[in-house]
Amino acid sequence: MEIKFERIQLPSDLISPLKGFEKISVPTEVRIDPLTKRRSRIITWGLPSKGKFDFSQMVEESKGCFFCPENVFLKTPQFLKEIVPEGRICIGKAVGFPNLNPVGTYGSVVVLCHEHFLNLDQFTPEIYKEGLSVAIEIIRKTMAFDSDIRYWQISQNFLLPAGSTILHPHLQVIGDPIPTNEMEWLVNASSSYHKRNKTIYWNDLVKIEKGLGKRYITSIGKVHWFVAYAPIGFNEVCGSVEGPGSVTTLGKEEISSLAKGIVSTLKYYEAKDLNSFNFSIYSICDEASYQLLTRIISRTPIQPYYLNDWTSFEVLQSELTSNIFPEELCREIRPYFA
Ligand SMILES: [Zn+2]
Repeated sequence: MEIKFERIQLPSDLISPLKGFEKISVPTEVRIDPLTKRRSRIITWGLPSKGKFDFSQMVEESKGCFFCPENVFLKTPQFLKEIVPEGRICIGKAVGFPNLNPVGTYGSVVVLCHEHFLNLDQFTPEIYKEGLSVAIEIIRKTMAFDSDIRYWQISQNFLLPAGSTILHPHLQVIGDPIPTNEMEWLVNASSSYHKRNKTIYWNDLVKIEKGLGKRYITSIGKVHWFVAYAPIGFNEVCGSVEGPGSVTTLGKEEISSLAKGIVSTLKYYEAKDLNSFNFSIYSICDEASYQLLTRIISRTPIQPYYLNDWTSFEVLQSELTSNIFPEELCREIRPYFA
């Protein structure tokens, strides 16, 4: 196995007013992702959260939205009859329909629940089981209609810092004939690893991380949860599913495992006074060297005097940062998966 965990220390010396103007050395660590070779910088001195934010005014001002139960069947778009004859897809309380403002060939929304707003500790595995099942059904039905659409993401942007204009919890399901940048990097790197090693990177990584025990959280069924060695976002948690790289082959058990892992991560975020997050499931068909990957990251919480967590580093230098050492995050989050 060629998996290497490389890191570069970049200490910075200065005369500090905080230490009586003595010389100090401030450490910065750069980590290199073992698969994509992308560099990630660990910067742990960010501003702390200012505590729980009271959402009541925001909820009051925006309730009765298009996704609320009284409106969702009256004011949201319907699928083409050739794709979904019933117009929308419903499983339990989750409702899926096309996005009025799509950002790709097939853009859909899945409303997750009747509640207009949920705190992070109010999301349940049941909510995600139903929501992911609707998302997967949308993907299956769309692919039966248009088999060229091999690249899919099931994503969630929760609250404004994560890029969502609508408070009501929902997923985005986006499918295209071409990959996103991230999907292409994952597929190309997984494929060249496979060519060199004749093994699947994701199986090898899980084996190594399990052995090291520093970043491996747990497995739930066929889903392995771990913290990335070189995270690409704050408090990043990853889930890798044994088997094909597409969600279309997932059974009830794997969907349930994904739902449980997402909810466990959100409970940890809630305990850290965070309230906004993004996740993506990268679903790619017919790529034997790639296995289905999920990533969840927290975003700077909504609070007075909002601080954006993307600086010139992320936006203009393409160097992503983590606010916590992955090994520390792993230690902290394990109990939430128990
Ligand atoms: Zn609503």
